Amino acid sequence: MASSSGNGSGQRPVVTRFAPSPTGFLHIGNARTGLFSWLYARHHGGKALLRIEDTDKARSTQEAIDVILDGLDWLGLDFDGETVYQSQRADRHAEVANKLLEAGHAYKCFATQDELAEMREQQKAAKQPMRYDGRWRDRDPSEAPAGAPFVIRIKTPEGGETVIEDAVQGRVKVDNREIDDFILLRADGSPTYMLAVVVDDMDMGCTHIIRGDDHLNNAFRQIQVIRAMQGIEEGWEEPTYAHVPLIHGNDGAKLSKRHGALGVRDYREMGILPETLFNYLLRLGWGHGDQEEFTKEEAIALFDIDAVNKGPSRFDMKKLLNMNGNYIRAADDARLAGLVAKLIGPEADEKLLTEAMPVLKTRARDLNELADGAAFLFKQRPLEMTEKAAELLDDEAKGRLAAISARLHSETDWTIEALEANLKAYAEELGLGLGKLAQPLRAALTGQTTSPGIFDVLVLLGREESLARIDAQAGG
Ligand code: GLU
Repeated sequence: MASSSGNGSGQRPVVTRFAPSPTGFLHIGNARTGLFSWLYARHHGGKALLRIEDTDKARSTQEAIDVILDGLDWLGLDFDGETVYQSQRADRHAEVANKLLEAGHAYKCFATQDELAEMREQQKAAKQPMRYDGRWRDRDPSEAPAGAPFVIRIKTPEGGETVIEDAVQGRVKVDNREIDDFILLRADGSPTYMLAVVVDDMDMGCTHIIRGDDHLNNAFRQIQVIRAMQGIEEGWEEPTYAHVPLIHGNDGAKLSKRHGALGVRDYREMGILPETLFNYLLRLGWGHGDQEEFTKEEAIALFDIDAVNKGPSRFDMKKLLNMNGNYIRAADDARLAGLVAKLIGPEADEKLLTEAMPVLKTRARDLNELADGAAFLFKQRPLEMTEKAAELLDDEAKGRLAAISARLHSETDWTIEALEANLKAYAEELGLGLGKLAQPLRAALTGQTTSPGIFDVLVLLGREESLARIDAQAGG
């Protein structure tokens, strides 16, 4: 479906918004709809706005808000203009509810909690859908006891249906009898979520609402507010909706904690590069032929809503890690050195890391692995040995290390080629495979049983440090 089709958005310049609630983490599903909103605006030369839906006061701490802002920043999503904070707009939300009330599109409902509970009980017993029955829709407020608390409810249409031409889901509709007269303003004067979202969307001039399909049902309600406001204020044009299917785990169930990490920050801590997550989220539910990897510029040039899949996408950790390995190998060595140095600690030398990076990065799939692989460079003598490394260093091995030491002390050409030729000759003398010699040598040089190629290790450590490490383990 063409992305410009929609409910009257016409040719207005594109304005999208990403509207996360601060819950303490930035869910990757939300991050993906944030990415799609951002890309859509960038692709169409429009504006990508950010709104923090911080109306739940208990959860919306500054810390929870910072998690979102940091996550978006890390992913490279720069939003336009000032960030809107929903909690600061409660007066405006109430104003809209009151305008609807004055115009007769909304009404005061004095039903008590007990009454509503009873109504629900009866509906339940009669196996009817539970929804507000409109009991105050046509009553005069003067019938209520003086000073009784009330909520403001919207008058939704009683017949017909509401149709949405969703840019992802296609044509979706609902029978208007299913949309009850929902609450706009609570008895304490605070706006409901349903009201706040749509007032903010309209005031921010949003032309396209791209969000998770768990909000599709809300769209049918939010449209009622837009339509009712159209005769009251300028600028209430129905946006184009694009409800993006949720992400599932690779077992097909809705993505949850048991599938692994859920927050953007978790992936960052796992050592995923931001460009990997950007690309991976992009490919979750959107595609361009069979191309797997996109630069940011390519993504902006190619992204459009019509190529977003209608079906749910599956999160595949293995694929993400493989992709991360590719991005690590493509990344600038000095940048990787900086990232890895932070993980290793103050003993890390960025210059040496940069030099070692072409060798180190050939195998790692995440930054932590990369840091583990680089740690040997900065170990202090005497090296701490892993259990397996210590086992390799028996008397026979120590004797061979002494012989290796003697050969390498007289080696004048400290290059991969020369060192390899030297040790190959010794292995041949002993009638052993090179691997057999390399194992204890690796243990002595790194304290581990896994490391980059042994000649790379010798060159990266340098002559002096290599010989000192070998001598510390060699038998007399
Ligand atoms: N704040 C809502 C959420 O985080 C999104 C609301 C919307 O996009 O309309 O789920």
